[in-house]
Amino acid sequence: MLCSLSVDDLSSDVRWDDIDEALAFAARENAVALLHAHVPGETIRAQTVDDVLSLAEQYGLAFVRHDELSVDAVPRAGLALAFDDQATEKWTELRDVFAAHGARVTFYLTRFHNYTAEMKAQIAQLAADGHAIEAHTVDHLHANSYVTLHGLDAYLEDEVLPSFEILRAAGYAPSSFAFPFGEARERTYRAVLDLPGVERIRLSLGSCPY
Ligand SMILES: [Zn+2]
Repeated sequence: MLCSLSVDDLSSDVRWDDIDEALAFAARENAVALLHAHVPGETIRAQTVDDVLSLAEQYGLAFVRHDELSVDAVPRAGLALAFDDQATEKWTELRDVFAAHGARVTFYLTRFHNYTAEMKAQIAQLAADGHAIEAHTVDHLHANSYVTLHGLDAYLEDEVLPSFEILRAAGYAPSSFAFPFGEARERTYRAVLDLPGVERIRLSLGSCPY
């Protein structure tokens, strides 16, 4: 289970001190800091992405993709930075920033069925750059309300499994799942984690059990 801190400094209150502390902790404890954001230029300043990557370098952190995170992995100090949803064009604009830092990041895609050919080409380019492509549901609905209305099985069959299948059909190898809004009840996230092919789930700090 991955517990991630949002670094969307335009759409929410993010304190640089908290980011600094997360990266310092990772360096000190030989751990991987998990940070995520959404739309560069809208939810997070593009400069903040650059600054986070610079700070990670200053702390000597390795850039780790989410598909590389495993309880069996050799502990190492790292930063696993992720971007969620569907801002393929804005993400593409950061390619040079990622490359300048040698950074490898993770993209959690939602509504992939609605992507244009251009958006799919941008994702293909980001994947070719060495970034990871992971699943973030079919329609970005709230897990808790969907489960309440339709049941847990329907959530898995409607929102979770097809979000992996569509990415696999496009040639990617997703093994991680991020819950929209970072939230899910324990019964739900345990059920997702039990699905074949799902090796890790990501929640936001507020919903994480630890
Ligand atoms: Zn999302």
